[in-house]
Amino acid sequence: MRRGIQFVLAALLLASVSWFWPGSRGNQIHGGALKLSRPLMGTLWTIEVADAERPNEAHAAVDLAFAEISRIETLMSEWLPNSPISQINAAAGKHPVAVPGEVSAILRRALDYSARTEGAFDVTWRGMGSVWRFDDDFTVPAPEAVERARRNVDYRALHVDGNLVYLDRAGMSIGLGGIAKGYAVDRAAELLRMSGFSNSLVAGAGDILASGTKVGTPWRLGVQDPRRDRGALLGTLPLSGAAISTSGDYERFRIVDGVHYHHIIDPRTGWPARECISVSVVAPTAEQSDALSTAIFVLGPEKGLVLARAAHVDVLIVDASGKRHATGVYTSLR
Ligand code: ADP
Ligand code: MG
Repeated sequence: MRRGIQFVLAALLLASVSWFWPGSRGNQIHGGALKLSRPLMGTLWTIEVADAERPNEAHAAVDLAFAEISRIETLMSEWLPNSPISQINAAAGKHPVAVPGEVSAILRRALDYSARTEGAFDVTWRGMGSVWRFDDDFTVPAPEAVERARRNVDYRALHVDGNLVYLDRAGMSIGLGGIAKGYAVDRAAELLRMSGFSNSLVAGAGDILASGTKVGTPWRLGVQDPRRDRGALLGTLPLSGAAISTSGDYERFRIVDGVHYHHIIDPRTGWPARECISVSVVAPTAEQSDALSTAIFVLGPEKGLVLARAAHVDVLIVDASGKRHATGVYTSLR
């Protein structure tokens, strides 16, 4: 976590340095691409637009894309007290809440992922939020507390009827951390396309959509080695018109007595999922790669490979023993 914050601060510092540099707009163009970063949705976003021969238009388009991500954060954050998601959570067990169509639609898609993954993906995971906070005073929760909180997790108790959303029981709570970032990536890229920029890379931390090419060649994306320093890669992949998401146990975690506690929770046990240390998925959209990487992480290699095949996506699973299971494009990772 602290490393993440340092990373965001360093990136902000770099961004502000280039901002105040004389002729800063020109300085943000590297290798024919305009690249800008901004912190949103609790992480650092980077957007790269390849058609930088129109730098001012590109800059305006990227600003619009960032504004779109910010709009989605306002709608879908479980941390902003007045967001539709917070309203649903506050009304759990009391009354249904009318939400914007975009929110009910993503909740319906999330429920669909739950049904397809036997509940491994479950937006009601957040009913356990109180026992899995990874702040500085983290302590391992007592098994009884985990079991009590786990009873608050059940996607079958989330009802989406038109634009009305209802959670059956007080204490239940939803969180879109496993899918909303992917959705925002797709929407941001769509706005760039609508502004005339169809060659772009939109990255919300580990959820990335590569559209078109980078000046004629496919974008190249790295897959983080889950057990080495940030930036040390398992390899890179060429991507064009596809999304990649990586879920790892190294994003938000604490190690206590040699045990790794992290932020991807297995709704069936209430504890952090144990079978994988990293799952990377390539899919047509970032919403799919985001949700499926989280789901496969929870399911583990055996069921995860079955799901990846059924969903027609490629996957690289690093299991708990460090063994790699690769399909499709990942077999030529280098
Ligand atoms: P990151 O947010 O680091 O990109 P993921 O996309 O893998 O990682 O999603 C992990 C996030 O998803 C958690 O921080 C939490 O918000 C949420 N989450 C945790 N467990 C589950 C689960 N079983 N199903 C759905 N969402 C989950
Ligand atoms: Mg994910």
